[in-house]
Amino acid sequence: MAPNPGSKVFNQIAIIGVGLIGGSIARGALEKGIAGEVVLFDGNAEALKRAGEIGFGRPAGSLAEAVANADAVFMCVPVGAIGVVSGASVVAMKAGAILTDVGSVKGNVARDFRALGRTDIHVIPGHPIAGTEKSGPDAGFASLFENRWCILTPEARDDADYVAATDRLAAFWTGLGSKVERMDAARHDLVLAVTSHIPHLIAYNMVATAYDMEAVTEGEVVKFSAAGFRDFTRIAASDPTMWRDVFLNNKEAVLEVLGRFEEDLTALRKAIRNADGQKLFDTFTESRRIRREIIDAGQDTASANFGRDKPKP
Ligand code: NAP
Repeated sequence: MAPNPGSKVFNQIAIIGVGLIGGSIARGALEKGIAGEVVLFDGNAEALKRAGEIGFGRPAGSLAEAVANADAVFMCVPVGAIGVVSGASVVAMKAGAILTDVGSVKGNVARDFRALGRTDIHVIPGHPIAGTEKSGPDAGFASLFENRWCILTPEARDDADYVAATDRLAAFWTGLGSKVERMDAARHDLVLAVTSHIPHLIAYNMVATAYDMEAVTEGEVVKFSAAGFRDFTRIAASDPTMWRDVFLNNKEAVLEVLGRFEEDLTALRKAIRNADGQKLFDTFTESRRIRREIIDAGQDTASANFGRDKPKP
């Protein structure tokens, strides 16, 4: 259930990593009044300074200072850094506080969280299914999470304190405008491999192939880039560190889904070679139906070109 507008869920939160996601949480929490105070830390001194200037909260002088009085600590750094930064944070966190994250992979984060060795704090991995291809503090905006899912992957425990902490974290995300779902970490990683990780891999690969062909086509790939290719380039403009860490940390699920993808691609290649129009038509019709379902579920717009304005001449 959403907290009443303006009602505080946490007195103080700490945001570690003040980029697109951390910045958006900080902004949303202050704008919507669901955190009394936001304390910030980032390994990148420039980003931390900029986050303070934008008004995300109070920059701290150290990681320990940032987390010391926080009721909830949000790890918003790349997946590959979450374990190490969490290890350095828990020693300074107060008993009863929540340690959570926003990483795009959950199995490895849950494993790292379990190894932290503090039984008096509540570790609850999380992942908002919201983002853009931009990074850094200036990319953050308060409405990023509105009407988007946030998946929490809490431990399978039913002690009252842990359940209450999970409910509180869920209320915070609801206060940011998200719809919250709880899920097993392994299931999360398989679902996201299908809906996010493999699509990014395909986009990176498509753009790399076109780049290689650019030499052959003498600039025509860029000059005549059609909507389909332009959409791939938007996805492939995403942060390389973030996506390197996603593939290194979700290896099994990604390889499983990639195997299925390769089989389906081989079937389409065969249909083209054999001039099997029916197979192509049926596959494309089915894909169109899935697009319709995403629009009906309110996860995208039905407007042409995703409702984007025409590019300026
Ligand atoms: P971002 O805009 O690049 O921000 C991350 C910030 O963390 C940067 O300022 C970065 O500094 C800093 N950082 C990196 N390593 C650090 C460390 N060891 N200690 C302290 N600070 C460190 O990234 P983002 O897009 O917000 O992604 C953050 C997390 O959100 C990732 O785990 C990602 O998987 C997850 N996520 C992203 C999206 C998305 O669409 N982008 C969506 C959902 C979830 P430098 O710039 O110097 O590295």
